[in-house]
Amino acid sequence: MVDSPFFVKFVNSLHISSIDTRTDHLHDPSYLSRRANEWGFTDTELTEDMNSLLALRTAIRNVLFQVSRQGTVEPEDLAFINSVIKPEVRLLELIASEKTIVETKTTKENTYSPHEFLAHDFARSVAHYGIKRFKLCANDTCLWAFHDTSKNGSKKWCSSAACGNTDKVRRFRERKKNAT
Ligand SMILES: [Zn+2]
Repeated sequence: MVDSPFFVKFVNSLHISSIDTRTDHLHDPSYLSRRANEWGFTDTELTEDMNSLLALRTAIRNVLFQVSRQGTVEPEDLAFINSVIKPEVRLLELIASEKTIVETKTTKENTYSPHEFLAHDFARSVAHYGIKRFKLCANDTCLWAFHDTSKNGSKKWCSSAACGNTDKVRRFRERKKNAT
């Protein structure tokens, strides 16, 4: 299992830098090319799969937001992700060695589409680490997705020093205000 699942970077391809500034890197050819290379697809395969990719990204982002903010998940978002995963599961192959199943391997990676690959990566990561380990930054003008690998899983902000610090400054001011 890779430490930083592919889907996290996929979610962050929508870069939110303030309340009304959003950059969608999936529409940037050089960004798309780098991700295609990482995920084992061609640029064309990603471009042709764009509508499904955008829909999947929204659904995953919604799930992460709902879990981190409300602790619940909207069934429609899960149903959408599941509808993508199902046909893909058949491509999993169990590898046996010395009469023991040692690992699972996804066969012929390119026989399924990029969004199916990412939906499966999301499902596998959630099954392995737990959904609560995948978060959106607590700063509502950031919402950067990250994998919380901290010991007690209590990380709230992305790795940007600015987000955690903004909150620290805010809490400090509130304390000060309450004290006077
Ligand atoms: Zn942040």
